This record gives sequence, structure tokens and C-alpha cells, in this order.
Amino acid sequence: MASAREVSRGLVKGDLLKSVSLCFPSPRRRREEGESRLMYRCPDCHESLDAASATLRCTRCASDFPVVEGVADFSRGAYYDAFDPAHPPSCEHLAGLDSEVEGTRRRIVDFYLPLIEKRNAWSVLDCGCGNGLSVDLLNERGIDAWGIDLSALRKWQWRERERRDRLAVANGLSLPFPDAAFDAVISSGVIEHIGVEEHRDSRYHVRPLPSRDALRVAFLGELRRVTKPSGTIWLDFPNGAFPIDFWHGDRPGAARWHPPDEGFLPTFREVRRLAGEGATLRALSPHRRLGFQQAGRHWYGKLFSAPMSGLLRAMTYKPFDLLAESSLNPFLVVEMTNDAGA
Ligand SMILES: [Zn+2]
Repeated sequence: MASAREVSRGLVKGDLLKSVSLCFPSPRRRREEGESRLMYRCPDCHESLDAASATLRCTRCASDFPVVEGVADFSRGAYYDAFDPAHPPSCEHLAGLDSEVEGTRRRIVDFYLPLIEKRNAWSVLDCGCGNGLSVDLLNERGIDAWGIDLSALRKWQWRERERRDRLAVANGLSLPFPDAAFDAVISSGVIEHIGVEEHRDSRYHVRPLPSRDALRVAFLGELRRVTKPSGTIWLDFPNGAFPIDFWHGDRPGAARWHPPDEGFLPTFREVRRLAGEGATLRALSPHRRLGFQQAGRHWYGKLFSAPMSGLLRAMTYKPFDLLAESSLNPFLVVEMTNDAGA
């Protein structure tokens, strides 16, 4: 039988936990659904928005931004794609969109969630969130997660999402959030598409624009603006220093050899140069981030996957972690933190 002391200790412990959670609501729960619109700011002047009407209206420059089915749209129709909701995607295209689900789970639950928890990052923006599933997955796990993308197709696809109040159509160069809004920002497969012109007819073509570096600098600056001074930014993209690109080929997962001077995929060194002063960057192993599902459809992908998985796993341990920024790594994950006092 438990002694009175043990019983009281148990009670005290239980009650204490309960009262602590009542007095200090977990930061994971600090914004409820109705408050979501209040988080948004004018993407042009960063002033607060009047959320009383059907649209979000800037209290300074009087710009109006529509909210349809819970999704705020800050794009002014300047989507990067030309999707028309009157003509839904073909079955083949829909199957392609479905096949992204597994990749999003791997990206978010297997790879980023442990990093988010390690950093105590309870508010997170997924900048370029694509299908928006990341926002549902993170919110389900108690993270105050938000997502933006600049795509008409994605906006249409978000009808399926639970947390549409945290999904916005917006440009990564002018985010609809206040300064220092997030503990962490994730941006997967975005930076390489900034400042380049891409064509996809029978083959994939890409060329850099003269403004490429200025735009990429502005993008990194915007990500830093919405990240808390002590916060973390994770960028991931195929490594420009690795000679093969499995992500932008003529078919999904097809190998695309690219010359070092192509000017499309950044290297670690380039991102460090573009990030400028006041931030520390390091490359992480993409182990668990990559599943080689797409590349595994091709014979060379199958040959490549097993030794590559071993190498990426090795890169999670010292001293092999130094290889993560090298040309041996096909996919860069760059972790950027603001320097103290910067
Ligand atoms: Zn404004």
C-alpha cells in the first residue's frame, strides 16, 4: 500500500503538471484557428491587415487580399504556373501529385521534425510548401506551422488540407508575415528556381537571368527577416557541385548531367556568399531526407542508391559530416543561423 507521503507526492506531481500547463499554455498551442488571419501582414509594407471583412485589407496602403475557402491569396494573380481550376489536372498528373505525399512525409516527419524539436522551434514556416501537407503534419504534432507557395495548382490542391487558415499564396520574396515571426523556416527546392528561366517541352532547359544573384540575396534576406534572431533557416536543394541532378530531368528521377557553369543549382559556397554577413551556415547530411524512390525507377538509380545511402549515413557522423558540403553529396541541406548580436 502506498504511504500517505507517496500518495501526496504523486498527487502534488500530477496537480503541479496540470496547473503548470494551465498557467503557462504550451507555446505549441498559442494561436488558434480564428487568430490565424491576425498573423498575416501586408506583403508590401508589413503593416497589419484588417481581417474584419471578407478580404484582408492593409491598414496602411489599402491593398486588398482575397481569402477563399480559408486560404489567403497575396499573389495578385502573379502565380508562377498557369493552372486553371476550370480544367482540373489529368489522371496522370493527379497520380503524380499523389506520389508526392510519401516524399512530404519523409521530408517533414522523418527529417525536419527531429531538427525542429531539437531546436525547440514551435513556430515554423514552410516557404514553398507545395501540396501543403507539411502544414497539416506539423500542426497535428503540435507545431505552430504555416506554409506559402506561389502556385495556382497548389492553391487548388489545398482544398484537401485541414489547416487552410495557415496556407497562403505568396511570393517568397515578399512574405505576408511580420519580422521575427518564426523560430524556424524550411525552404525545400526553392532557391534554385529563383532568378532562372526554365522551359519544359520534350526536354528540360534552364538558364540564369542577369538578376539571379540579386534575387537570391533578396530571398535569403526575406527568410531572415521573418525568422527570430536566434532562429534557424533550413534550405535544401540539389547540390550544384554534384555533376548529376536527379530532380530536374526530362522524366521524374531521370539523371541530368549538368556543367559546373550552368548557373542553376547553387553550391554550398555560393549560398554562403549570397547569405552575406551575420549568419553561420553549415551543411547537414541529407540522410533520411532522400528516399531515392524516383531515381530507383532507373537502372543507374538502383546501382547508385545503395552506396549513396551508406555515404549519406556516414555523413551524419564526424569527421564525415564535413563531406556534406562537398561535391560527393548530391543534395544539400544548408542550416543557417543568425550570429549572436548580428
Ligand atoms: Zn500595405
